[in-house]
Amino acid sequence: MYAVTHFTVGLMLGQAAGNPYAAFALGLASHVILDAIPHSDYSKTIHGIADFVAVMAACYVSVRLGAGASGLVGGFSGVLPDLEVAIAHLRSGGDLSAQKCRFFFPSHTGLVRHGRLRPPWGIVTQIAAVGAVWAVLSGSLI
Ligand SMILES: [Zn+2]
Repeated sequence: MYAVTHFTVGLMLGQAAGNPYAAFALGLASHVILDAIPHSDYSKTIHGIADFVAVMAACYVSVRLGAGASGLVGGFSGVLPDLEVAIAHLRSGGDLSAQKCRFFFPSHTGLVRHGRLRPPWGIVTQIAAVGAVWAVLSGSLI
């Protein structure tokens, strides 16, 4: 899943938990679940940069709407596992096939299923997930 999808779901869970430690755990757990849902990923650095900008924009909007520390902890812990993917991508020049054994997170190593779905449906599933999460989140923040 895109980082912005992980961030949004982690934010919602963290906000609902209201405790930064629980938020951190829920963010990580949500990453595994979201990675199992069929989705498309990107492989170009420019898409990763756009995704990072989207996370920062979602973070800004969330803070403006009143998201607390627990929500932000949940959001960033939801994104945290993909840091190893980003680092591997940058170190390998974009070829992650040889890097598989270096991953740690279960949904990246293959220990837990990582769903795949070609665009446009792999993108549509993420937009739908973000939309549903934002609808729930906006109801709890306002
Ligand atoms: Zn991931």
